[in-house]
Amino acid sequence: MKIGANVSIAKTGLLAAVQESISYDATTYMIYTRSNRGGKARPIEDFNRDEAIQLMSEHAISDPVVHAPYLINLASPVEDTWGYGVELLREDIRRTSYLGIKYVVFHPGAHVGQGAEYAKRRIAEGLNEILTGGEDLYVCLETMAGDGSKVGNSFEEIAEIISMVKHNDRLGVCADTCHLYSYGYDIVNDFDGVMQQFDDIIGLDRLKVFHINDSKTPFASRKDRHENIGLGSIGAEALMRIVHHQLVKDIPLILETPEGRYKEEIAFLRGEIEQPGYLK
Ligand code: FE
Ligand code: FE
Ligand code: ZN
Repeated sequence: MKIGANVSIAKTGLLAAVQESISYDATTYMIYTRSNRGGKARPIEDFNRDEAIQLMSEHAISDPVVHAPYLINLASPVEDTWGYGVELLREDIRRTSYLGIKYVVFHPGAHVGQGAEYAKRRIAEGLNEILTGGEDLYVCLETMAGDGSKVGNSFEEIAEIISMVKHNDRLGVCADTCHLYSYGYDIVNDFDGVMQQFDDIIGLDRLKVFHINDSKTPFASRKDRHENIGLGSIGAEALMRIVHHQLVKDIPLILETPEGRYKEEIAFLRGEIEQPGYLK
């Protein structure tokens, strides 16, 4: 099982991310290469890449993931916002590639009033502007929870966006347990059925990353509120079944749960401890 968490790049960049991952006994990880509050990004050349990659190989850590900034909205009807998103995602692809990382995940976007049809076309237009076909990584659309005016909630919407992109061999998908369940995919009672749908509509070869989160809100609530493993509506048992499923055995599984409990959550999901301490 390849499992890790959303870790920090404070001070030493990729090296800090790997060191934090080692402290959780993780075998993969995810980072944001810049602040989600905007502003200038730290130069990627200062991320201690080579040292970090060396340390990863010593600790059998592989397949890390980059999450692009939340500020990107490729569905925006506002030219400046859309253009800024194109620029940010292009820049994050360059940064991810420099780090030797193979996956960059982004949120497809929110239509802010223009409707889903418009948004899907607009997102594809952005991706067509960005992708050259020569990328050495996968740009992954994350499935959303259906909150606000977000698009990319259903497998159909994701598939439709992908179909409108020229170099779509460079596109992948990131599924998020919290988002799937909150949108209305019943991964608790029928994970196999949901994955069958994914395969029929998108194709499982596109599935590159899984975010593993419990959810603070009920099934089909269309909210995006992550919870620690076992404390939410999805529950420990279902999440345990998912992470041990044959379909995800080679895919990076990334926790984005409220911080401070990653080590226990990883040990629990691996089956090394009976229960996380906070559940006792
Ligand atoms: Fe995300
Ligand atoms: Fe996520
Ligand atoms: Zn979420």
